Amino acid sequence: MTTSEKSVLIDDLHALEREALAKLATVPDERGLEEWRVEVLGRRGTLAELLRGLATLSPEARPAAGAAGNRVKGALEAAYAERQRGLRAQSRARELEAERIDVTLPGRGVHLGQLHPITQLRREVERVFIRLGFSVVDGPEVEYDRYNFTLLNMPPDHPARDIQDTFYVANVGAPSRAPATAAAAAAGAVSPGDGAAPAGTDPLPPSERGAGGHVPVGVDGGKAKMATPAGGEVLLRTQTSPMQIRVMECQKPPIRVLIPGRVYRNEATDAAHESQFSQVEGLCVDERTTMGDLRGCLTFMIRTLFGSEREVRFRCGYFPFVEPGAEFDMSCHVCGGQGCRTCKGTGWIEIGGCGMVHPIVLENVGLDPSRYSGWAFGFGFERMALIRYGVDDIRLFYGNDLRFLQQLR
Ligand SMILES: [Zn+2]
Repeated sequence: MTTSEKSVLIDDLHALEREALAKLATVPDERGLEEWRVEVLGRRGTLAELLRGLATLSPEARPAAGAAGNRVKGALEAAYAERQRGLRAQSRARELEAERIDVTLPGRGVHLGQLHPITQLRREVERVFIRLGFSVVDGPEVEYDRYNFTLLNMPPDHPARDIQDTFYVANVGAPSRAPATAAAAAAGAVSPGDGAAPAGTDPLPPSERGAGGHVPVGVDGGKAKMATPAGGEVLLRTQTSPMQIRVMECQKPPIRVLIPGRVYRNEATDAAHESQFSQVEGLCVDERTTMGDLRGCLTFMIRTLFGSEREVRFRCGYFPFVEPGAEFDMSCHVCGGQGCRTCKGTGWIEIGGCGMVHPIVLENVGLDPSRYSGWAFGFGFERMALIRYGVDDIRLFYGNDLRFLQQLR
């Protein structure tokens, strides 16, 4: 090969460099870039083809042509890398643009839940009494008859039981103190309307037992069933008061407890009655506590919940487990005591019952009534919520209608 052959190869390399760089500048995307790389820098590409010509050059001509070949190859590879960086930056920028989030758009609102109005009220009442040094206790909703009635000065034949008709639970393992006949009665040996089953008789067949496994009591001749030996009967508690007994059985005075909880009555449901509702009960037992303390605590609670101008009054009331007993009212929060529709023109609204713990109840739990005195009160949360929120139907609280519940924050 001659010098001119060497010059031709170098010229061709320069021409290839110019053309390839021009084409590289027009490559639109990474796919086009890859095609360019295969075409120019690939093993069978145009540059490799030209460089194979080096082998045909004479030894003197080879170094200069080889150096030119290396320079062109280096320049094209550098240009390729540069273009690749540029294209990647472009496509990344396009992606970012496509995925751009418009932060000025209003977001979707988060749905915030809230506590049920009865729970809100329960917590407020709890806070009041915690400030007064009470502790909050909880107890079983399925209860023994003796805690719900007997030990609260309502023995099996006591007429006050009629006011609190409830649901008896059948087929529960009777406690060890229960006489056999009572276990039979609890298991459904008594059919509605038939009165008490004679002691020692076999239980009635299942078809003649009370519907749903419990024996309805107190309606249509149910009084006779009330008189069945009751030591071991199991029922859904009609009041939170059984917890008074349970607390006094295991604590020594001074006792100051607040007992909120769910209770049950065999009631026909209407605007003012539900078969299931919640009550709260307060109990204080000490050596020198008086009805004045009771009145002071209730006044503090009513004023905290309904405003500092409220007054509390006691009226004589009868509850078997207190003596003396009272109903307590508050002055109407709507008219301030002048008389309006809410208070039925009286200026007073009935809240609950209270009184001094009956000496018999104290004796039932082994406390000496000549040394200790106690007072207790109770009221229903639903009833207080009706008054507070001006709602006229108790069923609304358990209807699961958010349109109603969300108004009571
Ligand atoms: Zn009023």
